[in-house]
Amino acid sequence: MRALSIRVRGIVQGVGFRPFVFQLAERYKLAGWVRNTNQQVEIEVEGGGVSLDNFLRDLRERAPPLARIDEIEADARPLSGYGSFEILESQVGEGWQSIPPDAATCAECLAEVFDASERRHGYAFTNCTHCGPRFTIIDSLPYDRDRTTMRCFPMCEDCHREYEDPRDRRFHAQPIACPTCGPHLWLETEANVSAEEDPIVACAALLVLGKIVAIKGLGGFQLACDGANDEAVARLRSQKRRYGKPFGLMVPDIDWVRRLCEVSEVEERSLASRERPIVLLKRRADARIAAEVAPGLDTLGLMLPYTPLHHLLLQTFGGPLVMTSGNLSEEPIAIGNREARKRLSGIADAFLFHNRDIYARYDDSVVRSLAGTPVSLRRARGYAPVPVDLPFDSRQDILACGPHQKNTFCLVKGSKAYISQHIGDLDNLETLEHYKRSLELYQRLFKVEPQIIAHDMHPDYLSTHVAHEFPAPTALRVVVQHHHAHVVSVMAEHGVREPVIGVAYDGTGYGTDGTIWGGEILLCEWRSFQRLAHLRQAPMIGGEAAIRKPYRMAAAYIWSLCQASEAEFSSFFATLPLGERIILRRQFDTGLNSPLTSSCGRLFDAAAALLGLRQEALYEGQPAVELEAIADADTDYVYPYDILREGDGWVIDPAATLRAMWCEVRAGRPISQIAGVFHKTIAAFTVAVCRNIRDKHGINRVALSGGCFQNALLTRLILADLLESGFETLTHRLVPPNDGGISLGQAVVAYAIATGG
Ligand SMILES: [Zn+2]
Ligand SMILES: [Zn+2]
Ligand SMILES: [Zn+2]
Repeated sequence: MRALSIRVRGIVQGVGFRPFVFQLAERYKLAGWVRNTNQQVEIEVEGGGVSLDNFLRDLRERAPPLARIDEIEADARPLSGYGSFEILESQVGEGWQSIPPDAATCAECLAEVFDASERRHGYAFTNCTHCGPRFTIIDSLPYDRDRTTMRCFPMCEDCHREYEDPRDRRFHAQPIACPTCGPHLWLETEANVSAEEDPIVACAALLVLGKIVAIKGLGGFQLACDGANDEAVARLRSQKRRYGKPFGLMVPDIDWVRRLCEVSEVEERSLASRERPIVLLKRRADARIAAEVAPGLDTLGLMLPYTPLHHLLLQTFGGPLVMTSGNLSEEPIAIGNREARKRLSGIADAFLFHNRDIYARYDDSVVRSLAGTPVSLRRARGYAPVPVDLPFDSRQDILACGPHQKNTFCLVKGSKAYISQHIGDLDNLETLEHYKRSLELYQRLFKVEPQIIAHDMHPDYLSTHVAHEFPAPTALRVVVQHHHAHVVSVMAEHGVREPVIGVAYDGTGYGTDGTIWGGEILLCEWRSFQRLAHLRQAPMIGGEAAIRKPYRMAAAYIWSLCQASEAEFSSFFATLPLGERIILRRQFDTGLNSPLTSSCGRLFDAAAALLGLRQEALYEGQPAVELEAIADADTDYVYPYDILREGDGWVIDPAATLRAMWCEVRAGRPISQIAGVFHKTIAAFTVAVCRNIRDKHGINRVALSGGCFQNALLTRLILADLLESGFETLTHRLVPPNDGGISLGQAVVAYAIATGG
């Protein structure tokens, strides 16, 4: 006989961990107890030595599906002579704990929902300790029903029995519910819908008729319509005022995925994971989907149902549904019933409501497989607020306010970085409100009192104002350059501290010289960086307008970089409206409202315009996304480019590249090939510069970050070329390469500056 005292840390609460421990103890005939405290699960067990060894092994290896074990500590202790094994009351004190994110319906719950003999047959809110809502319904900790939006549903006798039984899958499942005691659904339309009719059947019937329905989901409302109905999808687009940007689709099952897209094993695993993100997949040529779902793209964003409500609806409907955030373009997703009626009534023909409140606003997450690795492009439902482990233990709490576009913020406590869910572009008051409310919730839940506050270098970003106004007068404010934050964010994900060559390619970021950066190759440490190379600058004629009109970027490159060769491009200029061309030229000559940029995103814009692919961008990055979609990289040459010395570093001049592309356009070469060679050329000059830096500074590790690395082709080509040149590479996995990942880098830079680390 021996006795052990055990402490388990990680995500071990709200995941059925105590009943799991209870059942293990029963199985190995051990006595003692288990209880939750704020920071960990504590266990005392006693019994035979072999049984204790088995118990410890199973504790680690057979933990429940939603648990994430970071650490198990076990110490021998004197025997207490316990007669049985018990689950004790929680010990709640000061501190913090991890909370699991929302998880897709588990197989057992799903079987119950579709089994006519079960009491939860057809019930849209079925869940258990292995699945269901978590973070979207919690308003404070410790996690129990009274602190969730389930508090207003008293349990019925049957649910209560399950809730109290440590052998039941629903033991202490806080959102436990059934048709007798739990939330319910109803459908609201202009026309009367009979109260007897099943709201899901009635909703599916409307969708079949081409109607748009606002559905209250897990983290907010979604707008749904028939994904194969051209008219319905086009109407949704114009009513939501979302032009160009692709819509996500929800399909009934994996067979449907295969019918619409090519899907690898890695991608199938992402699709079926309990996080259930939208996964970007290569579209099959014969996929029968409305053209307006993803215009101009060769990919579709697909996801599988993740709540019983979605399963029931998709089974009944029997085909792909557009499932997009319930908002007007650029606004945050709606969560309240009244709010939805007000904000979405101009878009939706009907509402599928329920009466379980949503506490935290969460969009669907997006994942894309890049060079065979699933990478998060939008980190929200299912992922946040699972912390990222840091390679240090900070004694001071840190707040990193994040960027302007695709904003997330990041809070650091100890060795954990809590990165918020995707908040969105901080362009309007609604989104700023969402930001402030989420920040307050995270601070409360994880008990963070920032003593260090990091923010972007851009003086006008709303996130910068948040940092200045944050009520912590003694906190240290740290300014972090955008691309430095990008690169350090990849380094932090991999626990790398040593200097790296950081390739940061994106659309826009405020540089230390006040110009707009975005095609940067930096020598990076956590604390500091040196800008060793960048793309040659061109003016953005008319500022932001140049992003909406990519031909302005093409003109700017031709005039500023390919001087005295306008005649060479005369047939390109002939495609521009004459009046505008004259005004553009005048603006170029005077430099009026034409900030200089070294952005790689803008170079993509110019290339797309030169190929005649897109003259008007409906969203930032659209020209680049379409250039990737048509690109055929199966060629064995690259275009010329120049790498010029400048000070201690280099400038990459793409003038020769653009000239060569234009020559090929005029020679009638297919633009798919030109687009492919363009991608290869970027890879070639990037790796050439990395080699120069390696020769001079002796650094062999390259980290890739920035929005351009959402481009699967560019990522694959650069990684292949780097590998061939013997470089070690770091890419994102946990946080997005786009600006959604920046807050993590800001936090780590600020930590290093504040501590001298
Ligand atoms: Zn379940
Ligand atoms: Zn019940
Ligand atoms: Zn960026």
